[in-house]
Amino acid sequence: MRSQAVKGTYDILPSATPTWQFLRETVSTTLGRAGVQEIVPPVFEYSEIFDKSIGESADLVVQKEMYRFEDRGGRNLTLRPEFTAGVLRAYVEHGMHTLPSPVKLWSLGPAFRAENVQRGRFRQFHQVNCEILGSPGPLADAEAIALLHDLLVALGLSDLRVALGSVGDPEDRDAYNAYLREALEPRKHELSETSQERLRLNPMRVLDSKSEQDQAIVAELDKPLDRLGTEARAHLDGVAAYLSDWGIAFDLAPSIVRGLDYYRRTAFEIHAEGIGAQSALAGGGRYDGLVESLGGPPTPGIGWAMGVERVFDALEGAGKLPAPPAGPDVFLIPMDEEAIGEAAALSRSLRAHFHVQHAYVKRNPGKGLRDADRVGATYAALRGDRERAQGVWTLKHLQSGEQREVPEAQLADALQENL
Ligand code: AMP
Repeated sequence: MRSQAVKGTYDILPSATPTWQFLRETVSTTLGRAGVQEIVPPVFEYSEIFDKSIGESADLVVQKEMYRFEDRGGRNLTLRPEFTAGVLRAYVEHGMHTLPSPVKLWSLGPAFRAENVQRGRFRQFHQVNCEILGSPGPLADAEAIALLHDLLVALGLSDLRVALGSVGDPEDRDAYNAYLREALEPRKHELSETSQERLRLNPMRVLDSKSEQDQAIVAELDKPLDRLGTEARAHLDGVAAYLSDWGIAFDLAPSIVRGLDYYRRTAFEIHAEGIGAQSALAGGGRYDGLVESLGGPPTPGIGWAMGVERVFDALEGAGKLPAPPAGPDVFLIPMDEEAIGEAAALSRSLRAHFHVQHAYVKRNPGKGLRDADRVGATYAALRGDRERAQGVWTLKHLQSGEQREVPEAQLADALQENL
């Protein structure tokens, strides 16, 4: 038996869970104040939901990065590699297009990709996902980007760079892909294997290649932004104008193309300075047409996904991880057998107002106080036969060492006054 987490997965240990709580609260408050509501789709879906949405050239498909299995009922299922497809499936299934538009939805949870594991790249990782559905104009795009930006700031990050691009309308993409095919076909054999496959399926994605040689070859070519149609150009200018108005710094990214095939027009990423090669904290774009391909009515949409592990990495780098939570207000120390039950019973009643822990076994004062110190308690309260005889607890402030005897009935007041 291997007592080991599966490669590419990890445990969120108690020392880290407060950071996760902080994340969830910050997401819920920041997005909630903009009318974005939480939705919790299942972790797996029928495989066709992803097949219909992600597109055949995505690495998830080409590199077989999806965790796919058949269940005992013969259903072909896939662990979600991203949230958008499942959220949109839910939007269609529950007729959410009849709700006041735009419908804004956020989610937080794990996603699964059978990728090569490296720093910032896991097989079970977590995303905060956000979708704005029902609004075709650049305002929705700008709001989506601003919400992401403001969320990262609320989480404590500052050195952020928004990279704003556009993959154009479908006809722009087709024309650009035709241009790339013509330009790259003669040099095909100089390209990496992945890029050769992309050239066949969706040439635009060659721009995303990590190979330096591929990058040198595409450097001389026109980028999607150089070849946008009038409408896609106007849309991009609209998004840029809102962001400028709102004081959100961005760079135009001429060759940003996202890993999934469903994007139209706006595509964007946010990077943090100084967390290395995997610096994309989040990315997203517009996906008009995707709701339709999942069986819903024509519905424009824009969304993004933020990588939680990458954000935590950036927060750690910036020394901005939230402080660990405080220890108990008081730690009760039974000094004889009888006091064990007394400590447990008193803990239960004090917990109506305080964080209280107690030793489960009889402790001498030295050991008991060491236990109290180790859990980070503010006070220790000790009980032995002398205290029992007088109906008191010896209350000791651990940092100052000050101590006094307090009648059991007055312990709550004493803690209240001094905490
Ligand atoms: P994507 O859906 O590929 O645009 O990913 C959105 C964000 O999720 C990225 O910017 C990363 O921050 C994060 N992400 C994607 N894949 C992984 C992974 N394998 N491990 C950790 N984070 C990831």
